[in-house]
Amino acid sequence: MAEPSVLLRAAWVLPMATRPIENGCVIVSGDTIDFVGSFHDAPKSVPVVDLGDAAIMPGLVNVHTHLELTAMRHALEGLDFFEWIRTLTRIRKDVLSSSGDVRASARVGIAEGLTRGITTYADTASMGASVLEGLRDMQVRGIVYQESFGPDPDPFTTVEPAIRRLRQQVAEMRGRQTDMVRVGISPHAPYSVSVPLYKTIGTWAAQQNLPVAVHLAESEAEHRFVKRGEGPFADYWRERHLDPAASKARSPIALLDQSYILRLKPLVIHAVHMDSEDAYTLARHGCPIAHCPVSNARFGHGIAPWLLWREHSLTVAIGTDSVAANNRMDVLGEARIAQLLACGYERTAAAMGTATALKMATLNGAAALGIREQAGAILPGYQADLAVWPLDGWSARPVRDPYDILVHGLAGGEARMTMVAGQVLWQEGRHLHYPRRDEDRGRIDRLGRQLMEARATCHI
Ligand SMILES: [Zn+2]
Repeated sequence: MAEPSVLLRAAWVLPMATRPIENGCVIVSGDTIDFVGSFHDAPKSVPVVDLGDAAIMPGLVNVHTHLELTAMRHALEGLDFFEWIRTLTRIRKDVLSSSGDVRASARVGIAEGLTRGITTYADTASMGASVLEGLRDMQVRGIVYQESFGPDPDPFTTVEPAIRRLRQQVAEMRGRQTDMVRVGISPHAPYSVSVPLYKTIGTWAAQQNLPVAVHLAESEAEHRFVKRGEGPFADYWRERHLDPAASKARSPIALLDQSYILRLKPLVIHAVHMDSEDAYTLARHGCPIAHCPVSNARFGHGIAPWLLWREHSLTVAIGTDSVAANNRMDVLGEARIAQLLACGYERTAAAMGTATALKMATLNGAAALGIREQAGAILPGYQADLAVWPLDGWSARPVRDPYDILVHGLAGGEARMTMVAGQVLWQEGRHLHYPRRDEDRGRIDRLGRQLMEARATCHI
């Protein structure tokens, strides 16, 4: 039997892959888009839902989250990057380590994302199986990259146990993956993963055809660690009798090139501290970038080199990073800040337009995650992942360029409706599918209190 169809009409449809359509419509059949175009040209036989003064666009793609850390929102304010990571690691171990709590934390993060039109989540997680279950609970699309750590290059004490554990975690996650939620891996960062572990993981990931994501070229501290074996990360490992000089290279990106990881075209998260040789390296391998402008600013990592990325035609997508680093999950807001920082940094209003900023939040996100044939655009045959934005508020009037309104007028606000694979998950201020909502509310507040208590007594 054919799936029931519905025609969604709105003042604007922004397919992103093609030009905006005034008085447009989208026909959804089951989980798929059947038609996009002018309302006048649409088949007349399909029941119409008139969304009125609104803009329909593809669901937003968030290419970098840490959903398990949602309970840590506002818990780590005022710390610099090194202290932030150490405090986070410590209090997470003490408070946020049960699979039930991590799964609930992920659900709460997704609940927030749905209010802001986010339909796809690319998450890096230390407890990947629990986060994956959280994505499944909320019926959203995504990929969960299971993290791996191991700064000690010793094959017997660190590398072997780390890869063994990663294999087990991935096997467990694979048993739970679906058409909508996939499994990937993430060797964490150059200051927490040795070169031998990068190589071992890279070889295995290639054999297994696993998607890879890496935190890379994020901070000055990471750069100093890789280039000169000095700075807070180097001091920390030296105190624990590890030799940081073992991972020396001209830059973090060069280090991962030498470690063969870049051949796997990983999603490169941050990519702030880099030069033209690094940009060429990423372009040569075809690595997409997860751009997290708010997190980069929050930690004082700097402003990403947008012009360099553009000169090398790198695929740049938007990530929010964790709410422990950003305080909110707002891809539209992130696109706005990306545009403003690019123009401010390059000292020209022509550095980035709002159309580019929105493409980073949609088309490029889907391309970066390898789902460009399914999501990130409104096209026939694509999955029906949609975000509907109100144009009847004061900040949207008068309606001129809908891209400008979305990026500068509506960032930070709520979507009117969010649909994933044809299912309406958020509409007019209500989650239509949120199992355990009341339980999660109590649980996230309890975790928040315990994390603040743990931070108060955490002396590192
Ligand atoms: Zn991150």
